[in-house]
Amino acid sequence: MSDGHLTVVSDGFMQLPVSFSFPGAPEDELKMLLSGAGLSADTLKNDCNITLLRRGDRLAIFDVGAGSNFLPTTGKLLQNLAETGIEPKDVTDVIFTHAHPDHLWGLTDEFDDLVFPNARYQISAGEWEFWSSPKAVELMPEDRKIFAVGAQNRFAMVEEVVSLFKPGDEVFPGVEAVDTNGHTPGHVSFAVHGGTEPVLIAGDAIVNVAVSLMRPDWPMASDQDPHEGARTRTLLLDRIATERMRLIAFHFPHPATGLIERKDNTYRFVPA
Ligand SMILES: [Zn+2]
Repeated sequence: MSDGHLTVVSDGFMQLPVSFSFPGAPEDELKMLLSGAGLSADTLKNDCNITLLRRGDRLAIFDVGAGSNFLPTTGKLLQNLAETGIEPKDVTDVIFTHAHPDHLWGLTDEFDDLVFPNARYQISAGEWEFWSSPKAVELMPEDRKIFAVGAQNRFAMVEEVVSLFKPGDEVFPGVEAVDTNGHTPGHVSFAVHGGTEPVLIAGDAIVNVAVSLMRPDWPMASDQDPHEGARTRTLLLDRIATERMRLIAFHFPHPATGLIERKDNTYRFVPA
């Protein structure tokens, strides 16, 4: 998808069992909600969508995908980028929403070289501090310890050149970091101003095209702090609908961009 100066490129997709994804959600309602949206009630398919923004002679990429060491279904960014005519050396700014594998591990190639050699790197200070801490590995549950080890390895590749920002900072011309912690402690989204309409690059603050919109209050297992994740999601959806922002959600069906319509107390995604 390419729209003016914004481009969304696929990095592939991930599949997860529905059964562990929404702890505490009433099973019948969850199944009804997924089937009603035309989605499988057994397996969640999360597409992975990477946003690029061109402004003047600068080109920013928001997250870098999973690279070649995560899942066989992910790590397709470079081949899909080539089809858009963008070369990795053209990217001037690499800006992260958070440090999970599907967003960060594509930082390096199979030879451990940086994929975007000419870029400056930016991540929120909260995210950097959390994953850099010697305690990060210990804090993660068994099945996610690899997330912390992987983040620390990738951070080591850019620690000399990375800049840290805080929510509210302008990280790129017209692009403001928005605090959306909960999915991870330093998770941020990005509000893009100055185009034909405001755009919100949500990262993983809003994950599922049906459940996250119909029941933003339901805790999600993929959120490190499920309570805070639900609170953030609820506030963010209200803002997107109220300010009529175009949403780009990393895991929505490709190309993952559209408007959010409010209906009663829930929301609906209108691809556009
Ligand atoms: Zn993700």
